[in-house]
Amino acid sequence: MIGDDALAAAWRAARPPVAGVHLDSAACARQSLAAIDAAARHARRESEVGGYLAERAAAPALAAGRAAIAALTGLAAADVVFTTGSGHALDLLATGWPERGTVACVPGEFGPNLAILAAAGFTVRPLPVDGLGRVRPEELAADLDADRPALVHLTVIGSHRGIVQPAAQIARICAAAAVPLVLDAAQGLGQVDCAVGADAVYSSSRKWLAGPRGVGFLAVRPETAARLRPRLPATAAAEANIAARLGYAVALGEYLAAGPARMRAALAAVGAASRRRLAGLAGWTVVEPVDEPCAIATLIPPDGVDPVAVRDRLLAEHRIVCTAAETARAPFELTRPVLRISPHVEVTGEELDALAEALSG
Ligand SMILES: *Cc1c(COP(=O)(O)O)cnc(C)c1O
Repeated sequence: MIGDDALAAAWRAARPPVAGVHLDSAACARQSLAAIDAAARHARRESEVGGYLAERAAAPALAAGRAAIAALTGLAAADVVFTTGSGHALDLLATGWPERGTVACVPGEFGPNLAILAAAGFTVRPLPVDGLGRVRPEELAADLDADRPALVHLTVIGSHRGIVQPAAQIARICAAAAVPLVLDAAQGLGQVDCAVGADAVYSSSRKWLAGPRGVGFLAVRPETAARLRPRLPATAAAEANIAARLGYAVALGEYLAAGPARMRAALAAVGAASRRRLAGLAGWTVVEPVDEPCAIATLIPPDGVDPVAVRDRLLAEHRIVCTAAETARAPFELTRPVLRISPHVEVTGEELDALAEALSG
């Protein structure tokens, strides 16, 4: 038993049977049958009545999706635009930002985010962190005062390790210093509370919310959105995969119906169980503290073992799906590739045993 057995059973029953062992929700979680059906039904409707008329009829469902995002981010439904994912959202925000200057971010900032910020004309500097890459809130006010950035960009949970940033504390300190705060909630949304009072929040559908690929959102506080060039609503008219947005809206509804607090607790329990099971496997080191409140477990391999080869072997020989994270995911922090395990709430003890045995073998 891992944690919330009733929730795990319901999550599993709502999905197609898994082929193998899926431990890769930080990359792309398993969609529910209802989310898959919503997207498929819309594609069919487009064929029947015409794509633009089908979109008009889908407006209430899309509005419900934006309202769900609002509930999870603490912003308003009217402040939410759908994007194709997190990278697209950051690109819209960074290119539209009214000034250029320095972005303060964690040393473990996601590599592709660094590239987007650089392309938009920003320079970056690190926030003060501890040995795990977690921001030290007690040093943040003085840090912002000493070297005031144009904005703080906080990746709530990184792609290369499951360290949860103290986002609520950071939001309070940024607000007191009048420094805008932007949250990359690609990994954070669904795993931890992201309604902390940030000026902008963005995320992807396919990760912990288990929606379809190719969709995400950007939510921006109206006072900030009004200063963007171009202003955000213009982007909402762009061509889009409406079926995917509808699938995402269903996934968001399912998550809210299960209960955000319950989902977060179940994912934290999954993370703790995974780390406990994997700790002490010969030669492998678990990066996160056992009780870190998220479902990502990161493993540093024994010397001479290549995580990419291990990932391939797990898939080929055991049908276990997980991720090998290269250093490019966090170029200022990750010194060697790691193996990332990211089960969703449905994971069983037998599945974790299968992974542990495969890694030992
Ligand atoms: C996946 C991820 C992104 C990028 O999301 P896309 O939807 O692929 O653009 C950004 N930041 C973090 C922390 C991620 O894990």
